[in-house]
Amino acid sequence: MIALLASCLVERDPDPARILVVWSPEAETAARRAGHLVDLRSQYLVDLADTVMADSGVTASVELAGAEVLVEPEPQLVPRELLALARQRLADPESELATLRARHRADVVVWIVDTDTAPSGVAQLLDGRSASDPFDAVAVVQWDAPELVFPHELFHVYGADHSWLQQVAEDELVEGYAHGWTAPGVLAHTIMADASECTWAGAPLSACDVVPRLSNPAVLAWGEPLGDVRTAYNACVVQQRARYVSRLYELATGEDRWDASLAPSCPVVLGPGRDLAGTICLAERADWTGCTDLRGTVRVEDPERVRGVERVTGDLLLSGPGVSSLSALSALRSVGGTLTLRDTALVDLAGLEQLERVGGLVIESNPALVGLSALRVAEVPGSLLLVGNAGLRHLDGPVGIERAGVLWVTRHPELEDLAALRGLRGVSGGLAIWGNPRLVDCALPELDDEVRQAVVLFDNGEGCVP
Ligand SMILES: [Zn+2]
Repeated sequence: MIALLASCLVERDPDPARILVVWSPEAETAARRAGHLVDLRSQYLVDLADTVMADSGVTASVELAGAEVLVEPEPQLVPRELLALARQRLADPESELATLRARHRADVVVWIVDTDTAPSGVAQLLDGRSASDPFDAVAVVQWDAPELVFPHELFHVYGADHSWLQQVAEDELVEGYAHGWTAPGVLAHTIMADASECTWAGAPLSACDVVPRLSNPAVLAWGEPLGDVRTAYNACVVQQRARYVSRLYELATGEDRWDASLAPSCPVVLGPGRDLAGTICLAERADWTGCTDLRGTVRVEDPERVRGVERVTGDLLLSGPGVSSLSALSALRSVGGTLTLRDTALVDLAGLEQLERVGGLVIESNPALVGLSALRVAEVPGSLLLVGNAGLRHLDGPVGIERAGVLWVTRHPELEDLAALRGLRGVSGGLAIWGNPRLVDCALPELDDEVRQAVVLFDNGEGCVP
């Protein structure tokens, strides 16, 4: 395995790619006011990109070709429009940008700007498999963007792309392996991936750390490989395109000519990271056999269809009389969106014992349901709605829910107590208990006073006070 991985990274490039950092006069003024010296700042950002490459197992390198402040004022445009403008100007030998590039013989130009509109960086993703236009080797970065935005945009120029799942969903697959990596197990993502995928694990975005690395299955963080060779091997694409990127100036001027050997591709071999085939699947697919991760929203009337699934990134809806047991869900650990059980024949929730995280939970109109005791989830960040379960007598559970976004317990003719909610401490978006005529014990001893004041209670049994 090590030999195969090494073979992907064997393409050495002794010639660093030369990066010209140009500042709009507005960005320079703003950065100077914030205490930055543009030369030092430019050097720092290019060095940072170089360090990320080295730490990610890439042997090629980048260097600062020069740091310049433009005379031309920055047009009032959003970053994408600025990128298009930069490409135009680089193709025009009379323009200031093209003149500066020629003076420094720069392969890639990064334009530092002062716009405060999203995104904070944007770059042209080079194809690299054919003779792409070398004038496209440009990125636009806001002067006060987080530091890793600079290397992120620069590596787009090498063909490194965002996460595989995101691109598949958007139908924009570039190279199978050229993607960032998200490791839900350790709540981290590499610099090309998108933190939003950490919600796979049901975690809030803020809990997901960025690791300053390109995805590479041979590099570990917290004991997990930071990639896999099929889908998440940014280090490989950066390595393989390094010769091409380091010749972009020569290609632009005609001093050098494109040939296909400038862009060899990485071998696709089985790696030690997650094996894509059969484990991570799009929910739109018809057959989920062998899938452990389903991306997207899943609706089923037969729980057997999701047997073995551990994670659903979107919503999971089970409904209909065919849903009489959840034992097929015994591997399920997280639902990124809302888990809904509606109009089922369920008597209990046995089978959900492994469920650790859920974005929201809706249990509605399940007439045979008598309790929730298998539920171990302690927190529901979105809505927790218990609605119209005609036979539900007890809200019992061994652990109990501590926090929820919105919580509703409503229209339960048989419900007598809220035992499962006794550990409830906080509800951020509103708590309503109504239409439960036999509910006499509404004690919620742990609840924050502020929430207690705001609880909506009516049409419950006598003595129902939180
Ligand atoms: Zn990007």
